[in-house]
Amino acid sequence: MSSTAERTAIGALDPRPLSETDPEVAAAIDRELERQRSGLELIASENFVSRGVLEATGSVMTNKYAEGYPGRRYYGGCEFVDVVEDLARERARALFGADHSNVQSHSGSGANMTALQALTDPGATLLGMDLSHGGHLTHGSPVNFSGLWYRVVPYGVRRSDRTIDYEALRNIALEVRPAVIIAGASAYPRTIDFARFAEIAAECDARVLVDMAHIAGLVATGHHPSPVPHADVVTSTTHKTLRGPRGGLVLCREEHATAVDKATFPGLQGGPLMHVIAAKAVALGEALKPGFREYSGLVVRNARALAGRLAEHDYDIVGGGTDTHLVLVDLRTTELTGKDAEALLGRAGITVNKNTVPFETRSPFVASGIRIGTAALSTRSMGEAEMVTIADLMDRALRSEGDERVLSAVEAEVGALCTEYPLYPGTDGTPGGLSA
Ligand SMILES: *Cc1c(COP(=O)(O)O)cnc(C)c1O
Repeated sequence: MSSTAERTAIGALDPRPLSETDPEVAAAIDRELERQRSGLELIASENFVSRGVLEATGSVMTNKYAEGYPGRRYYGGCEFVDVVEDLARERARALFGADHSNVQSHSGSGANMTALQALTDPGATLLGMDLSHGGHLTHGSPVNFSGLWYRVVPYGVRRSDRTIDYEALRNIALEVRPAVIIAGASAYPRTIDFARFAEIAAECDARVLVDMAHIAGLVATGHHPSPVPHADVVTSTTHKTLRGPRGGLVLCREEHATAVDKATFPGLQGGPLMHVIAAKAVALGEALKPGFREYSGLVVRNARALAGRLAEHDYDIVGGGTDTHLVLVDLRTTELTGKDAEALLGRAGITVNKNTVPFETRSPFVASGIRIGTAALSTRSMGEAEMVTIADLMDRALRSEGDERVLSAVEAEVGALCTEYPLYPGTDGTPGGLSA
């Protein structure tokens, strides 16, 4: 015989915190927070989001189905998710000065799939930046949908200064007459001349797709020229320099608005992630505030300081420096591969990723370079003096030949720096913990 309380409890949600209901997952989250706090995060595509973004991402909006768009949904009960999607769309338009925005893409890759579907048909010819010259998988890699579904012709950088060779790009474009030229990169440190892309596209009657995934935060604050006036469609992630939740967004000219919306839903996705869209609204709101402009300025100054100091230690900086948040080091002037360097730095508490470099001679699993970015550490308020210290620490780790004493000495200094610039102080890093 069961009591009323037990009977009504069937199907009920366990109200206890995760640490009690699922200690295995909770412990991994705790350890991840500790990892983020105690190491120097220099992965160029990562950042740390605000408490507001974490709260929205962990909110009950994850429960809601909302296929369609605000005011035109295929489900009832959408009045409040409509509020956040309208806020996100409006803020994205305002922040970037775009005619139209769509904030439903689950990722940057999905946003690119949407943009290509909106602009052209499978089988069309695309021009995309070579992956080893800094491009992204979705710009035409043979193992990606872009390379499988489209005919892709790559362009890249010059040997002399490893910056984009616009003259060569123009010659390729005039020869192959692509339907779409994709500008934008994952590992290119210098300013990209979007106006030049548009001029070349006009000469061969191509559309321009700009993927500003890495630099969106810098574009939003005027620290990198905007692609919006020059592109038919602009795609982005929301989680890199823009400092929002993981996800994508698409901006476009009015003439492509319907095609972009249709390509996103029902073309490529079903229900949007409304909790993530709420978090995108929060992040875009943060990016509209003056403090975000100051933050972005710090990101760029920090990258310049880091690149400058690494150059003083005789590292080969691809492109001769940086105009963005990103620094690419070609290690072929040293004995190390990218893989070696990533591992050595990792042992000292410094996280970077190995990366291919222009005119690469090794496989992507080994690679000859490392990619470094300052977006995350700038969120911890570290500045140029700390970047000089970090470059010195990196140099010591890279020259250590794996000597445990050297690496643990560097790790201790990394730890001290992290304590001085705490991450999520006084919280446990979860939405519940943050509001406690
Ligand atoms: C990071 C990145 C993407 C992909 O974003 P995901 O959210 O990881 O799919 C697309 N394009 C460029 C240029 C990027 O750097």
